[in-house]
Amino acid sequence: MSVETAARERVCHRHKTGKDARPIVPGERCLVIDTQVMGKQSYCLEAAADIIEQARLDIDEIERQVSAG
Ligand SMILES: [Zn+2]
Repeated sequence: MSVETAARERVCHRHKTGKDARPIVPGERCLVIDTQVMGKQSYCLEAAADIIEQARLDIDEIERQVSAG
């Protein structure tokens, strides 16, 4: 996972289609996740906040399981 500044317009993977669809515009920072399988996916910072929050919950849960032995 890394944060990049878009040089060209990108598609936000969360807001690809539908009424909330909007691109990541040049100069906008975005979260890039390299999925290995499906390639790199870009997310706008609004979507990134949700992803980071979910990742934090996942890590907390993994930590709990590891400490439980
Ligand atoms: Zn988005």
